[in-house]
Amino acid sequence: MRKVQAVSRSALVRAVRNGVLLLLLPLLVRSSIFAEPPALPGPKCDDNLKGTRILLVVLDAVRPDYLDLVPMPNLEAIQQEGTSYEHAWVGQLINNTPPSHATINTGVFPRQHGVIGFEWADQFGRWITLFEVGGEERLSKLLIQSGVPTLADLVRQIYPCAHSVAISGPKAHAAVAMGGHTSADWILYASSSEQATPEGSAQYSDVKPATVPGHEPPAELLQNRALYEPGPLGPEDLDRWAVDAALMLLQRYQPRLLMVNLAEADVVGHATGGTTNPENMSRVMASLDEQLGRLIDWYRQEGLLEDTIIVVISDHGMVPNERNVEPNAIFKALNDSGTGRHPNATARTHIWLTDPSKGSEAAEAISTLQEPAILGVYYKEPGGSNYLLPPGSRLEEPMRATLSYLLSTYAGPTSPDLVIILRENTLLAKWPEGSHGLHGEITWGTQHIVFTLYGPGIEEGRVSDYPARLVDIVPTVASLMGLTFQDRDGVVLADAFEKPASEELVVQQNMQRVLGPLVYALCAQSAVDRGVPATECESITK
Ligand SMILES: [Zn+2]
Repeated sequence: MRKVQAVSRSALVRAVRNGVLLLLLPLLVRSSIFAEPPALPGPKCDDNLKGTRILLVVLDAVRPDYLDLVPMPNLEAIQQEGTSYEHAWVGQLINNTPPSHATINTGVFPRQHGVIGFEWADQFGRWITLFEVGGEERLSKLLIQSGVPTLADLVRQIYPCAHSVAISGPKAHAAVAMGGHTSADWILYASSSEQATPEGSAQYSDVKPATVPGHEPPAELLQNRALYEPGPLGPEDLDRWAVDAALMLLQRYQPRLLMVNLAEADVVGHATGGTTNPENMSRVMASLDEQLGRLIDWYRQEGLLEDTIIVVISDHGMVPNERNVEPNAIFKALNDSGTGRHPNATARTHIWLTDPSKGSEAAEAISTLQEPAILGVYYKEPGGSNYLLPPGSRLEEPMRATLSYLLSTYAGPTSPDLVIILRENTLLAKWPEGSHGLHGEITWGTQHIVFTLYGPGIEEGRVSDYPARLVDIVPTVASLMGLTFQDRDGVVLADAFEKPASEELVVQQNMQRVLGPLVYALCAQSAVDRGVPATECESITK
């Protein structure tokens, strides 16, 4: 029998010994104020409480090594009673929030669901961006147009009246990418504006609930005064806000599928570099665990925990600019080759060219600089989806195989024309070293993620070396619910199951033989780049 406690006794003892409870106290006091949000009026759904439920929590941009910064008793309890993947990775490009959440929602790669990143040039050369006003609606429509089934669709195969909800603090694009497609889904996020602080953190103005057309939660939730909070608010407040909103919906409507993005480790990681500012990140991680605990507590108190599949995952990693590559020199070489970056582009290593026919010349021009921190430069065959290296490239196997796989996950008419491969902890930037973080680069630090499964049918206390990917979540949840999921890119993580189907195990084992060497190469390249032994990579089956 599973018996996850909100805070396990051994974890509490450890926390007290480490003095961490003192650090947590303000958060505990704060959360108790919001532990019982007001009940919402309104009709109940006909969906009853019996049967499987899904709680999916995305820890945005949380690197696995952040978990060592502070005790995380609620996450540790889930890990101890579930299955975790120590070499899990994003397993696709671009490793940023919209494509990752769209894949979490659909089980297919960006090349199929069409969300390449925050921005891209479409097949007619028009610039698509999710940053501008209306970007959320555009993202929702894109997922509908792709025609790919979603987690909510799967759940409704068994529970036609089930509510599915996607919530984020300030990240509309995370909530929409997770909750998009099925018109009955509710999508909720915090409308606010964010400013960086001199201490390397973020501050938010007044917060209020917001949604996108076609996905409106009940009006009583959107109008609930408890979700209107005056600023200034800190990063931890925004994650707490997202869980406040989730608890309101749970208490009133018991959504069968609840997806929550906790965004603030990403915000602080960008502003500080993450690993280069452990003090700030420790505070965020303690808060994340507190919020995870509040969610799990609701399921426990309602007697629903034993029927609930819990997925705790990060959508990508984060790397600090321990080394800068002068961006102007790179972009000058690009311009000298007879083309340039799309004028509206913000991405630096995934590049759409003003003249896509010049990809080969552009890749060669940047390669000729022989910048030591650039491993290689790929270009896309004009009109095709095949990525190539210019003659004389220094990039060697097995990294070539890893990059070929990753590039294939977004390759298509809308994918970038040029891709610059940087060494670990390197950014095309001019910031003071170690002061900022990004995650669009293609390294182990941006790809390595947290990945834990818990719930009915999941093996207890297992740590797997399988290189699980975001694309594996939907097939795995579908299999746990007794459903099959066609045309998927991922595999069922059968090694997490108490009673795996032998054919699903064989498929996964075959995939391990493909993916193991690729993940090892990425991990080992990171060790080479950082000048450390590849100790953490040795347990990868290759
Ligand atoms: Zn993210």
